[in-house]
Amino acid sequence: MNRMLMLAALVAATSCASAQTQEKKDYPQPEPMRPGMSEYWTPQPKVVTPGDARSASAPSDAIVLFDGSDLSAWMAPDGKPAEWTVKGGVMTVDKSKGDILTRQKFGSFQLHLEWRVPKGIEGESQARGNSGVFLQDKYEVQILDCYENETYVNGMTGSIYKQTPPLVNAMRSPGEWNVYDIIYTAPVFKADGSYLYRPFVTVIQNGILLQNHTEILGTTEYIGFPKTQQHAEGPIRLQSHGDPSQPISFRNIWIREL
Ligand code: MG
Repeated sequence: MNRMLMLAALVAATSCASAQTQEKKDYPQPEPMRPGMSEYWTPQPKVVTPGDARSASAPSDAIVLFDGSDLSAWMAPDGKPAEWTVKGGVMTVDKSKGDILTRQKFGSFQLHLEWRVPKGIEGESQARGNSGVFLQDKYEVQILDCYENETYVNGMTGSIYKQTPPLVNAMRSPGEWNVYDIIYTAPVFKADGSYLYRPFVTVIQNGILLQNHTEILGTTEYIGFPKTQQHAEGPIRLQSHGDPSQPISFRNIWIREL
């Protein structure tokens, strides 16, 4: 055996011995998992008392926007008092007075509101019980009588108007109350005014999911496509639509800031 071969044999024998030593070494093993290792207890979510199930009254930490008594939480677009009709615990759109907006501005929120299309309403497509909820005064979740009334799908009840149709049609018939629960995540803007994160919305009507964390593409435009428009916190706007059908009504409106 020449010197090179002897050297190679020596190296091989040494590394083999080293591998054997490693295999025998008794390293500490992870502790066996116990149930408590994957449980954490703080911070505890705060306790919120649910509203009465039958009347769907506001939970304890909600800001009540309309409890049936008055429109003090609302104003006209020019800042003057809102002038829709309030009667019997219900507010009804007055189409001669225009939209109304909350006096308070909001970022991300959970919004509950109930609305009713009058029994015997007439008209078709968009001209039948049209209203809407504008999130931060920029993005409309459509309100419309879509009970046996077809229209363009991205203008249906529960659509992000002119953007995304609802997953289903969950309408109750005219004269019955519909319930909206809307969970909204406000957008974040870059310094140049473009979206870093667009707004997102989840819409549930009568307990049925219509929008499942849907990305909002931009502002609601009747003509044209959504626009990017930098904004801060904004009010909730309820639409007084110009269609000639009988006006719709609202009750039990509350919001929880997120
Ligand atoms: Mg509308």
